[in-house]
Amino acid sequence: MESFSKTSTGKKAVPIRLVLLPVMAAILFVMIGCLVLGVNMSERIHAFAYELEEQTLKDIMLAQRNSTNLHSLSKSLQDLVYAGVPQRARAAYVNNWGLLTETNLKQHDEAKALTQRLIESLQRTWTLRQDYDARRSEVNADFNAFHEQLLAAAGVAAGLSKTSTNLLIDLRMPIVQHLDPEALHRRHLEMLDKTARELCTFAHAPARDEERAAFIEYCTNLKELPLSLGAKLDALAAAHADFLAQADAMNEDARNLSHVYAKLETSDRMGLIGQITRFNERLFSSFAAALLIALATAAAIALTSYLVLRPLGELREEMRRFLDTNKLPKMPEGSYIEEINDVIEWLMRFCRMLHQKRASLNLLATQYDELLNESHKDPLTGLANRRAFEAIVEKTRDVPENSVVIMIDIDHFKRVNDTRGHLFGDQILRRFGEQIRTCIAKNDVVYRYGGEEFCMVLTGVTPKCAYNIAERIRKRMRRISLVDASVSERDEAPSPLSVSIGISTSTKAWAEKDVLTLVREADLALYRAKCLGRNLTVRHEEQTPKSVSPFADNMETKHA
Ligand code: GH3
Ligand code: MG
Ligand code: MG
Repeated sequence: MESFSKTSTGKKAVPIRLVLLPVMAAILFVMIGCLVLGVNMSERIHAFAYELEEQTLKDIMLAQRNSTNLHSLSKSLQDLVYAGVPQRARAAYVNNWGLLTETNLKQHDEAKALTQRLIESLQRTWTLRQDYDARRSEVNADFNAFHEQLLAAAGVAAGLSKTSTNLLIDLRMPIVQHLDPEALHRRHLEMLDKTARELCTFAHAPARDEERAAFIEYCTNLKELPLSLGAKLDALAAAHADFLAQADAMNEDARNLSHVYAKLETSDRMGLIGQITRFNERLFSSFAAALLIALATAAAIALTSYLVLRPLGELREEMRRFLDTNKLPKMPEGSYIEEINDVIEWLMRFCRMLHQKRASLNLLATQYDELLNESHKDPLTGLANRRAFEAIVEKTRDVPENSVVIMIDIDHFKRVNDTRGHLFGDQILRRFGEQIRTCIAKNDVVYRYGGEEFCMVLTGVTPKCAYNIAERIRKRMRRISLVDASVSERDEAPSPLSVSIGISTSTKAWAEKDVLTLVREADLALYRAKCLGRNLTVRHEEQTPKSVSPFADNMETKHA
């Protein structure tokens, strides 16, 4: 798993994709969520609005039907009230009854109560109408009777026979059935009463007794009829007034029903549909906006990643390669963002500078190494010089056990110079250096410690072995001076050359002695060898005052 890494500033750092991926995933989640939720909610709202619309359409159709019914009802009620003929009034009543009982208005509680009330009102109106019609028929019958009596009296007065009078009665005009008893009936009654009064006078009475008696009987009836008719007309007027009052009440009920019906919820429902549609549109707009924002954010992140992160990633790889291999980085493709291009350009310049600095540093280091090697080299013998020895002493803090320091000094070398010249002396020094090299291991180093002094630091060498090496070197000096072919007969030293050697060893833990102590001890041993007569190998012995090595005793005797 990708882990957090620490930058040089000590802050915890994380790869950019670990930041971007969750953000992109969240945006994708929001987008999908918006889509799914939006589609789902929109579908549900659509379905609900559709159902509501269907229901409302049904209600509207019902309302139209009911409105037509109400209109017909209103006309029929007018017919019921104002129809002059009872048959027509009855037809209107039946029609009204049918409309009210069959109407759909009853589906609403308020309209239902009003419809029921209107039905009751209609019944009452019809009852009063029947009463009024009956009374009117009776009045009309009385009017007919009045006419008959009047015509009969007039016929008798005129001396007509019974048959002629009956013919006259049959020919009379039918009485108009007025709906306004107050005006027409009373005027009609007054006219008839006046005519009867004028007729029933002595002057119009027939001469014969039989006809006179009939004339008097008719006139008696004609006197009584206006009284009874007047009373009936009063009653008819009262009945008419009751009927009209009831009809008004019924019309008021009908108006109330229309009013209540007009307030029905169709319009509210249409408003609700409008609200739902608007809400749906707003919801859709919100989801669309959220979706667009998410899309825009994702696009912005993708574009930023492309513009910023791609060149940075390339740059990062190039820098890594540069630091690992010191190969000059390739210039990345570049970015469309000016600041990034500047940073890339500057980094490239910095890399080129660093590359040049590194190259010159490497050259300097090589030159320094070469100079150091030269400065640590003795030009005459090609061996390491005193400076190299001191550097080694300085560097070597830890001396391993079985370490040996061998110090060599050529005996009476001044005399050689004095007698054979310095060039000869130089030749001897060179040869002796070569011989020492052949006596030691390849890895061991011989130092020219001083003018005609040499030294070695050997490790992993026992005291006996060290002594043997020293003896071998000592013998080689004799060979140089005596048999070495490179030293010609002419150059040969007059007397054999010899060397004195001091050895110091550290057999135990190195911590007991350091290199300088060993050098000092080897120097003391060398001094001791000189004192004992030269051409000797002397080992430094701290414990025993006897400074000459037991191994050297023979030699000392031999060369002494
Ligand atoms: P001893 O046995 O006591 O060591 O006597 P010595 O003469 O060897 O010692 P001394 O220190 O008196 O002389 C050392 C001589 O080595 C003196 C000097 O002329 C000679 N010498 C030093 N360096 C060189 C060199 O590079 N070339 C030559 N030819 N001679 C050198
Ligand atoms: Mg010397
Ligand atoms: Mg010497």
